[in-house]
Amino acid sequence: ILYNMVQDLKGNIRVYCRVRPSFTSGSSNAVEFVGEDGSLVIVDPSKPTKDGRRQFQFNQVFGPTATQEEVFDHVQPLIRSVMDGYNVCIFAYGQTGSGKTYTMSGPSGGSAKDLGINYLALNDLFQICAGDDGLTLPDAIMLPVTSPSDVLRLMKLGDLNRVVSSTAMNNRSSRSHSVLTVHVHGEDESGGKLRGCLHLVDLAGSERVDKSEVTGDRLKEAQYINKSLSCLGDVVTALAQKNTHIPYRNSKLTLLLQDSLGGHAKTLMFAHVSPEEDSVLETVSTLKFAQRVS
Ligand code: ADP
Ligand code: MG
Repeated sequence: ILYNMVQDLKGNIRVYCRVRPSFTSGSSNAVEFVGEDGSLVIVDPSKPTKDGRRQFQFNQVFGPTATQEEVFDHVQPLIRSVMDGYNVCIFAYGQTGSGKTYTMSGPSGGSAKDLGINYLALNDLFQICAGDDGLTLPDAIMLPVTSPSDVLRLMKLGDLNRVVSSTAMNNRSSRSHSVLTVHVHGEDESGGKLRGCLHLVDLAGSERVDKSEVTGDRLKEAQYINKSLSCLGDVVTALAQKNTHIPYRNSKLTLLLQDSLGGHAKTLMFAHVSPEEDSVLETVSTLKFAQRVS
């Protein structure tokens, strides 16, 4: 009961953590324990506490075996609240390769299996609207969509437009944010107008870019990304602390999401971590970022 009260006091911000499966077999994993109560224990050999263990607490933690459906089960109520006129923002944070795009879109290579939140959310909204064509998908232009596959097609187009450049870390690394926005217009039982808005955000990788590895435009880009991620952190922290001033204006990203962060809106952050030991520094930094806003 105390736990629920604390959650209520924190208002409409929740933080989920997802640990992807390990790519290396063997015992070199930093993630030691994933609890059903939202606790996560990692072993950080670089900065040992007494035994190197650090515990973090979130609203939910999903381990390496969690399916897309299981994750979506914990997202669906939030998606449905868009139909009640809430603004909702769900974003995926974490270092490159930690599973952000997997959670939001699905596996790489455009596989039709294991589709992520973007698809499952749209599918859910379309099922609720059943044939109603009141959903629109804005980007620079607004395009009407009548089915989840319309949305998938548009998302592929958006992906092509996304600036992707390689970093030393991962040549699929996306050095840009991807935002899918859905406006829902409807009526309540008494015929009153309802408007809800859903932002589904796959953020650029949160890893700190080594200045020695990038120069020129790439360096500017990296600094811009780091700035927008830290501004997002500042905004969500200010909201979690119920500050009177929320620094939305410090980045384009937070300005864009303003209506869906704070106020009447509901926010969900997925903190993604890679389980491998050689990622532990980025893992600690992601978990601390997530802890700060929760
Ligand atoms: P990011 O978007 O954070 O850079 P990706 O989503 O591209 O990371 O994930 C990196 C790789 O790991 C991809 O090949 C992806 O398919 C795989 N992957 C990530 N999360 C999972 C998961 N939960 N289950 C299976 N494979 C995953
Ligand atoms: Mg990605």
